[in-house]
Amino acid sequence: MAKPVVLVIIDGLTPSMFEATDTPALRYLIEHGAYRRAASTFPSLTPVCLSSIATGAHPNVHEIPHLVWWYRKEKRIIEYGSSFGAIRAAGLARSLRDTIVDLNAKHLGKNAQTVFELLEDAGLTTAAVNITCYRGRHRHLPTIPGVPAVYGPRRFFFYSLYESDRTGAPLAIRNRAVGSIDAYAAFVGRWLVTRDGFDLLVFYLPDYDYASHAAGPDASYEALARSDAAIATLMDAAGGPDEFLDRYAVVVCSDHGQSRVDQVARLDVGADLVTESNRAAMVYTDDPRAIAERLDADPAAGIVVFRENGELVARRDGDDDLGLLDAVPDGRARAEAALLNPNAGAVIVSAAPGWEFVDLAGHHHLGGGSHGSLEVADSEVPMLSVGLGEPPASITGIKQLLATHFGV
Ligand SMILES: [Zn+2]
Repeated sequence: MAKPVVLVIIDGLTPSMFEATDTPALRYLIEHGAYRRAASTFPSLTPVCLSSIATGAHPNVHEIPHLVWWYRKEKRIIEYGSSFGAIRAAGLARSLRDTIVDLNAKHLGKNAQTVFELLEDAGLTTAAVNITCYRGRHRHLPTIPGVPAVYGPRRFFFYSLYESDRTGAPLAIRNRAVGSIDAYAAFVGRWLVTRDGFDLLVFYLPDYDYASHAAGPDASYEALARSDAAIATLMDAAGGPDEFLDRYAVVVCSDHGQSRVDQVARLDVGADLVTESNRAAMVYTDDPRAIAERLDADPAAGIVVFRENGELVARRDGDDDLGLLDAVPDGRARAEAALLNPNAGAVIVSAAPGWEFVDLAGHHHLGGGSHGSLEVADSEVPMLSVGLGEPPASITGIKQLLATHFGV
């Protein structure tokens, strides 16, 4: 039997911050594993990235395009939570349902297969804590009335709203700024490890990203210490770090990086619809070249990508140049896959370094951190594998690493 695996995802953690950390649990894992920097997907935004981790594919397969996007089928904007104001602008109840339920039930591509579906169809038990891409085979009722049932992995814990088992965990959403969500994850994780209740545990820790948006990249030491403490809780539940690694293979990664925001902008694309948030924007247009040319003079627009006669085009400052994509991680593959998503706009704008696009409510992270672009800072993630051989070069490779490990 293959060892069970714990996959730890620390949202928004940059490679530089990870490599320099002196927090004890992460340091222990780094000393026992194989490490590399890996590429995220594009746009490098959490709903897109977590879907790529869970399905082992880019957005052309999983079909989650952005934090905010135009849903052609229902002729409306989907907003997964750029900010509280943006959710309110898009309709509070509707946005919560889109984020919590319909991302998995409706938006996630039918041809995509999650790691939960893959492993459970092979007879293994999977567990998920708080990851927003969770589609699985087991029906879970909500803990509060008025919320629909969802299909997730056998052991499923989602912000206190769905709990497949009674663990006694405190409420997840109490005080984000002091890390209440990671504390919830730690409580549930301890319960799962104590019972050895899984073959795969996906342990998603979002609080670091939240702190890093406010403080800027590579500054949130306290938040990283709390993420580390959540991992240490799992180790303690196994009897200590050595016992933990005797029992489990481990992957630690993040979903995307972060870069500093010095300037903010709203794109002017004329009469076409633009969905913009953080450091990526999509323009839903019938004339992609005209939009790309219109953006030539906009300092907030970095690399602008679209397809023309079936070919990928990358443009910046008035010149078409596919070589722009060779200067960023996995650039051509990520740009192409983002554009081939049936839910994407025909033009995708990667923000220029230092720039951020304001969301539906005008919210931004000026002076703090953001992500979403093709640029290195947003697109590189730490990738550590312990007991699983060489770590993958992309977040899309984690699912295959697990499939190989389990012989599925
Ligand atoms: Zn973020």
